[in-house]
Amino acid sequence: MNIPKSNFPRIIIIGGGFAGISIAKKLSGKEVQVVLLDKHNYHCFQPLLYQVSTGGLEPDSIAYPIRKILKDFPNFFFRLANVEEVLAADNKVRTNIGELEYDYLVVATGSETNYYGNKGIETNSMAMKTIPQSLNLRSLILENFEQALLTDELHERDALMNFVIVGAGPTGVELAGALAEIKKGILPKDYPDLDTRRVQINLIQSGDRILKEMSEKASEKAEEFLESLGVQIWKNMRVTSYDGKTVTTNTDDTFDTAAMIWAAGVKGVRIKGLDAKRVLAPGGRLVVNQYNQVKGYANVFAIGDVACMQEENTPFGHPMMAQPAIQQGKNLGDNLVRLLEKKPLRPFVYKDKGKMATIGRNKAVVDLKKFKFQGVFAWFVWMYVHLFFLIGFRNRAVVFINWVYNYVRFDREARLIIRPFNRNYDAFKEEGEHRLPKD
Ligand SMILES: Cc1cc2nc3c(=O)[nH]c(=O)nc-3n(C[C@H](O)[C@H](O)[C@H](O)COP(=O)(O)OP(=O)(O)OC[C@H]3O[C@@H](n4cnc5c(N)ncnc54)[C@H](O)[C@@H]3O)c2cc1C
Repeated sequence: MNIPKSNFPRIIIIGGGFAGISIAKKLSGKEVQVVLLDKHNYHCFQPLLYQVSTGGLEPDSIAYPIRKILKDFPNFFFRLANVEEVLAADNKVRTNIGELEYDYLVVATGSETNYYGNKGIETNSMAMKTIPQSLNLRSLILENFEQALLTDELHERDALMNFVIVGAGPTGVELAGALAEIKKGILPKDYPDLDTRRVQINLIQSGDRILKEMSEKASEKAEEFLESLGVQIWKNMRVTSYDGKTVTTNTDDTFDTAAMIWAAGVKGVRIKGLDAKRVLAPGGRLVVNQYNQVKGYANVFAIGDVACMQEENTPFGHPMMAQPAIQQGKNLGDNLVRLLEKKPLRPFVYKDKGKMATIGRNKAVVDLKKFKFQGVFAWFVWMYVHLFFLIGFRNRAVVFINWVYNYVRFDREARLIIRPFNRNYDAFKEEGEHRLPKD
């Protein structure tokens, strides 16, 4: 990998997400050599992915070059590399560009979509965990409308204009709200020859309330907001299969759709090599102690979504959200320095700064420790917090300008099919017993 030898201990960080960048910043200027490995050369601000999928923001405005973040840090090296295996016995990682030894390893690989072993859903549904996936979804949404224009068969057209979102956590709720706004504000203008009143947005949740990680008030209000936008919410319903054409559920209800979006679960991104029997918690996360040290390994640590710190008040680990990732990165950064200075380590204590979700224009829900509020003020708070945590002045400025423009003009100008998704539409052309007579 062409990394020079150094007198300082080498710390390898795998992943330049919220956790990886946070620890990298903490280690800047310390007596260590840091090598950050990521399979992308950018940091992605995942909370705004749904706006890329729905044409509200260009992808570049939520991504930031990792090299630019690290450019002034001494003893820092970045390599664009996919880490394939940890060779823990040799203190090495194996990547697609070679092997590298470490003194300390920090796994910050984040999480990926969890299909719970359902191959049909994995193959046929859309996910929204990365920028390429969000661009695929943006293309698919627009291609479905273009395709809907080409058929005069009612059922086929309805299926092409039916969006089924599975999972009503923040991702599902925010996406449903954004699609509902597109239906109202953009589709009638872009597709005057389509009856866009027939566009359906179905949001399916296995439990009895949406945004179940938030307060009951937030769930109720979010539901009210979504229904006012025309989103159909299906609670206590579990999706059992999707063949690219029909979504089946554990009830008698089925949905014919050309776009099922799976936002119903994530699991830790596992890297081969760490002893799975010892270290894996449910959800594919690595079991860590209160210092983020991976169970059974003295010099391997995990932070962020991939780490599962099981304590009395967090039996399933901390929430897979940006704040725990950032805070764990900072704490471990301090602790690694303390370790080298032979000082006692400080256990991680999570400071819950609250949760929030936006449903659409002037509509958001915010749960802080002391205050819970919903509506217009919550929406402004949501926007402020997201702008604040975006990396880079240019990105903040671009996102802010886009939001103002979209707000004033009721528009989303990034509705572009730059990279077609090329879905196979043949299934929708086949005759089937569910088809309605032509209108
Ligand atoms: C659509 C969406 C909306 C969200 N909204 C919110 C929100 O509103 N609020 C909130 O707090 N959280 C939100 N989250 C969750 C939040 O983004 C994550 O909790 C956070 O990104 C976790 O940070 P991380 O550093 O652990 O992982 P990530 O940010 O996912 O970073 C992991 C990094 O590791 C790299 N990587 C993975 N495997 C390898 C490998 N083998 N080799 C090299 N590099 C690798 C990846 O490329 C990536 O850069 C959302 C997530 C999504 C997907």
